[in-house]
Amino acid sequence: SSVVGIDVGNASSKIGVARARGVDVIANEVSNRATPSLVSFGQKARALGEAAATAQTSNFKNTVGSLKRLVGRTFQDPEVQKVEKNFINAELVDAKGEVGVKVRLAGEEQVFSATQLLAMYLGKLRDTTSKELGGAGVSDVVLSTPLWFTDAQRRAYLDAAEIAGLNPLRLLNDTTAAALGYGITKTDLPEADNPRNVVFCDIGHSSYQVAVVSFSKGQLTVLGTAADRNFGGRDFDRALLLHFAEEFKGKYKIDVLSSPKASFRLAAGCERLKKVLSANAVAPLNVENLMEDIDASSQLKREEFESLISPLLERITVPLEAALKQSGLTKDEIHSIEMVGGSTRVPALKERISAFFGKPLSFTSNQDEAVARGCTLACAVLSPVFKVREFSVHDATPYSIKVTWDKAADVPDEDTELVVFQPNNPIPSTKILTFYRKDNFDLEAHYASPEQIPEGINPWIGKFSIKGVTPNAEGDHSIVKVKARLNLHGVLNFEAAYTVEEIEKEEEVPVTDPAAMETDGDKEAAAPKTEIRKVKKLQRKADLKIVSGFTGGKDASLVAGMKETEGQLYSNDKLVIDTEDRKNALEEMIYDQRSKLDDRYKLFVTADEKEKYLAALNAQEDWLYSEEGEDAKKSAYVERIDSLQKIGGPIQFREKEFQERPKAASVLREAI
Ligand code: ATP
Ligand code: MG
Repeated sequence: SSVVGIDVGNASSKIGVARARGVDVIANEVSNRATPSLVSFGQKARALGEAAATAQTSNFKNTVGSLKRLVGRTFQDPEVQKVEKNFINAELVDAKGEVGVKVRLAGEEQVFSATQLLAMYLGKLRDTTSKELGGAGVSDVVLSTPLWFTDAQRRAYLDAAEIAGLNPLRLLNDTTAAALGYGITKTDLPEADNPRNVVFCDIGHSSYQVAVVSFSKGQLTVLGTAADRNFGGRDFDRALLLHFAEEFKGKYKIDVLSSPKASFRLAAGCERLKKVLSANAVAPLNVENLMEDIDASSQLKREEFESLISPLLERITVPLEAALKQSGLTKDEIHSIEMVGGSTRVPALKERISAFFGKPLSFTSNQDEAVARGCTLACAVLSPVFKVREFSVHDATPYSIKVTWDKAADVPDEDTELVVFQPNNPIPSTKILTFYRKDNFDLEAHYASPEQIPEGINPWIGKFSIKGVTPNAEGDHSIVKVKARLNLHGVLNFEAAYTVEEIEKEEEVPVTDPAAMETDGDKEAAAPKTEIRKVKKLQRKADLKIVSGFTGGKDASLVAGMKETEGQLYSNDKLVIDTEDRKNALEEMIYDQRSKLDDRYKLFVTADEKEKYLAALNAQEDWLYSEEGEDAKKSAYVERIDSLQKIGGPIQFREKEFQERPKAASVLREAI
């Protein structure tokens, strides 16, 4: 099986593959090492990744990006309505409780949920990877997520992966992935008592994440994290879009924002201008035929750009302060600041972050590929395929989680809630809760500080019903233990529930003999003494059942249904591609054979044969360019290819035989 890591980016995704000699970031079908995170719905089939980017300009209403920003969220979510809407041209709708899109595919209006959209795209990345691996199956994978993702968003990622037939060994936070890539290759890490503290900043297309990470031999520990969820390259592009739209109102008397298509084209021009400004003091903007036949042009100085994005720039130190505070470290204790993500090329960001720490920044890792590499290494660590240097990753969750329950009527002084995971609690980790109950009961998990999570995400994580509880043998409360686990994905589960019983046991226990401790020198006298004592012990008695339900959770049948739909869409896409392929093959055959009849086949056809074959070729050509032939079934093209082959076959055979004869003769000569 293969070892794969994917940085699922909002603008583009990067795929890493582990090989015996190291990790390779692979190229897609058009030789790009980053694949646009887009899904497009066409007149016949879907277009995914690069093909979607190509289709976008002519079909932008049916092309969807921002996949990771939508997943796990509701249609009503204020961040979806206030923020994401600015970046999406397709119509957003409710899709069974999750936000989705209404699009036209093959002439029909269809609704797909964000999870389905992500699954379609992951399927494309899976195929790209499989092709790179010579057609090998791709299953085990580590996917990156923003560190600020909540339980519902992570679960939606896992569902999407399942629909795409992938098996995520871990969802890994972007910054942790970058940290793993950094640490695992370093041979000079200090001992644990004097760790090296490094800050990782990932500023990408849509968000800005910071992690303070300590490294020592063989391990990394995330000490503090923070993020600005709405701070990235797309926000700079939008500030530019609004600026130029305003300018063009006066200059060209056009209202770009009134036309989604023109807005889209101008935004693309703004992104190009922004990139030029990273390396130049001034940059031009040229958008041909922006709208109303106007070729728009302008230019911008870097200072002007910086003042346009000043509201964002003012926020830049906020996550740095917060992550540092959580880590308990001072700026002086920071060894270096590692920058990843495409937007860390913006000079104004670099200057401000560097000024905050009073240190130059480091760009040790490839800023576009560090996260994909880290994910791939994490996959290699978890998979048995490669032997990887031992390196432990102690990640942390940014949010505190509390568990609540109803007071049992007959347990008077019981609390009704408990913060089970504090902010910065390690991932993975397990906590055991104890209850005294005679009956079944429910636990509910919530984010303890709802103001920390994205506004529209329900702070209620899920409900866990503990079933099968009975009074104990004496008719009194059973002691019930419940295991809460934040797993490797950063997802909460109640993994096990069971009753325990207090039993008395005879056990050998060590006794400290004060006399023996005082005698020194005589080893034998100091040997540990033990005695048999009766001790009270808790022993696991019976396993209980847990029934769980989550925010936005999809039950198994819904996911299975989506998987089936995906399978149908996938085979339809394939059929459309195959049909197009056979159509091209027929066209090529007609031209090829016709020209050969006057050339290579000349000596091998009778006049009669030639006439008959030409007539057949011409007839097929006429059909091919008729309305029927333009858009026929795959089988129609295949049949026509076969029928031509029947006539042409004998001619081809004679010609081939003739060509091979001298070769055969020379082989014979050599053999003698
Ligand atoms: P996210 O991490 O938010 O999900 P992503 O991983 O897809 O998104 P990256 O690939 O890290 O994002 O970065 C893409 C962003 O970087 C885009 O907004 C792009 O415009 C920006 N970018 C790339 N090159 C430059 C440059 N030279 N100057 C300024 N910005 C740049
Ligand atoms: Mg990214």
